[in-house]
Amino acid sequence: MKTDFCVLGGGIMGLATACTLSETSDSQVLVLDRHGVGSEYSSSNDVNRVFRYSYGSDLLYTTMAVESQKLWRKLEKESGQELLLSTGLLLLHGADENANRFNEASYRTLSHMKLGADRLDKEDLKKRFPQFRSEEAFFDPHGGVLLASKALLALESLAKAAGVKFQQGQARDIVFEEHPYVKTDTQEKIEFRKLVVTIGPWSNRLLRNGLTSIRPTRQQLVYFRPHAGLDHFRPDSCPVFFTDRHYGLPAAGIDAVKLSPKELSESVDPESAKRSVDDEQIIDCREACRRFVPDLADGEVVQTKVCLYDMTENSDFVIDKDPERTNVVYGYGFSGHGFKFAPLIGKLLAELTQDEKPGFTLERFSILPARRRTPALGAHLGKGEYSGQ
Ligand SMILES: Cc1cc2nc3c(=O)[nH]c(=O)nc-3n(C[C@H](O)[C@H](O)[C@H](O)COP(=O)(O)OP(=O)(O)OC[C@H]3O[C@@H](n4cnc5c(N)ncnc54)[C@H](O)[C@@H]3O)c2cc1C
Repeated sequence: MKTDFCVLGGGIMGLATACTLSETSDSQVLVLDRHGVGSEYSSSNDVNRVFRYSYGSDLLYTTMAVESQKLWRKLEKESGQELLLSTGLLLLHGADENANRFNEASYRTLSHMKLGADRLDKEDLKKRFPQFRSEEAFFDPHGGVLLASKALLALESLAKAAGVKFQQGQARDIVFEEHPYVKTDTQEKIEFRKLVVTIGPWSNRLLRNGLTSIRPTRQQLVYFRPHAGLDHFRPDSCPVFFTDRHYGLPAAGIDAVKLSPKELSESVDPESAKRSVDDEQIIDCREACRRFVPDLADGEVVQTKVCLYDMTENSDFVIDKDPERTNVVYGYGFSGHGFKFAPLIGKLLAELTQDEKPGFTLERFSILPARRRTPALGAHLGKGEYSGQ
């Protein structure tokens, strides 16, 4: 089989790239996914994901979030679906100095960029968001909830309508002969003009030596339903929130509030990672709630999920061509914070694929380890959460 553009991976990044390629060219686009588009194994598969402008003092990610929000709104128009709920993001002051510095730096950055952000003292917080407890908090009005699974479906149907072809199968090898091709698990050869590789936690398998590798980690999510009901936890009254070591999302797309640790869990092999949640994790989430969101602390656990991060050493993404094989473009290492940027990343990967100048400077996202920044304090947290210094 032959195609102009072959996209490996039908997670949010592969779909966003395929959509842009089909919109901006008349070429044939094929998406190959091992488990099928947006399967439960992919990191993109979940009810909801956090959107935020807050990135400490990191101007690049903040600017990318501003741009990405416009593209999510465009995607909502094109698909006729509501995908990004504006709830704001509440950054709660706690005992973790790194997290506190990140919160303060985010506030300063948003204020400096005239994007608006509020500082709330204990009394302000009680009046505005009585569900939460903290001595101090910052509010990023641009935070929100992305309805992740719905976004996957929206992109898939837009791609299909634009003529993108989908196939289930696993790429085993990329073969560089006169006509380069992908060899699949069923020995099929897919000849391509350009290849885009967006296979998330499985990326190491299709990287040659000398390119930036990733560390897949097992992350756990717990959905709580408070006994007193969800009135204070709907998206119209409850923002997305960050505590010392956890983050949470209001009941959006599901009748329960999601809690998850920001910190990285253990490294795993994506083939054999345990896909159920540990009891200790549920206890840990309850403890965080007891301190910051008491009504949730004894809530009923209605759903749990394990998802894999594809961590780079410094939490920065990889968005680059293979310098020796420039017909192969890579997008991976989204380090637990990529979803919010998906439409923008899809655009950037499509630009690289079509040999156009990318709309953002991609220096920080180099595939060459020597060109990448050394890890900063707080990089261990994933989610691009640096200390803000
Ligand atoms: C628990 C958790 C919480 C997160 N929270 C947030 C958040 O709040 N906000 C945010 O912005 N981001 C968040 N992220 C990060 C975000 O979800 C990911 O960065 C994003 O979904 C990555 O998408 P992807 O398409 O690169 O990878 P994936 O969605 O994992 O897709 C990769 C696809 O490649 C396929 N594949 C693998 N190997 C092969 C092969 N050899 N051949 C063919 N196909 C293959 C897989 O089947 C899979 O479908 C979170 C991630 C996790 C795990």
